[in-house]
Amino acid sequence: MHVQPLVIANWKMNGSRELVNAMSSALGNQSALTEQVQVVICPPATLLPALAEQASTAGIACGAQTASAHAGGAHTGELSLSLLQEFGVSYVLVGHSERRQHYGETDADVAAKTKAIIAAGCTAVVCVGETAQQREQEQTKAVIGEQLAAALADLPDNAATKLVVAYEPVWAIGTGLTASPEQAQDVHAFIRENLKKLIKTDADLIPLLYGGSVKSDNAASLFAEQDIDGGLIGGASLVADDFIAICSAA
Ligand code: PGA
Repeated sequence: MHVQPLVIANWKMNGSRELVNAMSSALGNQSALTEQVQVVICPPATLLPALAEQASTAGIACGAQTASAHAGGAHTGELSLSLLQEFGVSYVLVGHSERRQHYGETDADVAAKTKAIIAAGCTAVVCVGETAQQREQEQTKAVIGEQLAAALADLPDNAATKLVVAYEPVWAIGTGLTASPEQAQDVHAFIRENLKKLIKTDADLIPLLYGGSVKSDNAASLFAEQDIDGGLIGGASLVADDFIAICSAA
């Protein structure tokens, strides 16, 4: 581990006010844990007000699952960073594979959003990952190299303090298939080397998260790897006990 461990919950289009309350009170009882590990919850945007009310007592930070790159105006259905920041958002996911695959988010969109997130003073959690077919064709590193170069072009020299990279193999998301710790470490080391070329200062301080079917029983072996600083957790972040077990493994 290079940096403070970081575990981010991505609730996707799941959850409820009840889950916000349950998760906040469960994490609120784990202050020793949340002092060691930075825990972030990215609920659906409508749950942000409820989460924001409880986040500081729970010892966690609020995140958004996406944000517009635009500051305001005629963008029906979109949310700007300033709107999200009103509800305490300090982390924003960008380029999640579901947004790339199903909502047409391009590398150029990811780059524009990453820039806007950092300019607003939030931390951008840039998601990258290869499909099963790309892995079979041994294109994993080429794909990830391209995604990183596109997403992180023209960032300010000091961007490292506002950047997280999440490696999420598309074939591992929500499938129950997980990259082995060795497979994940291999890609994380590659990402670490690339970041040194793309970000001038303190690239070593950028947390690298693994995501894709992380569960309470495989988290510890993944997080034990040298360049894995924590996780981006989908399904297992919807159950307080499971999520706390994963945070404890970080
Ligand atoms: P999963 O999702 O943990 O359910 O595989 C991870 C993610 O999509 O961020």
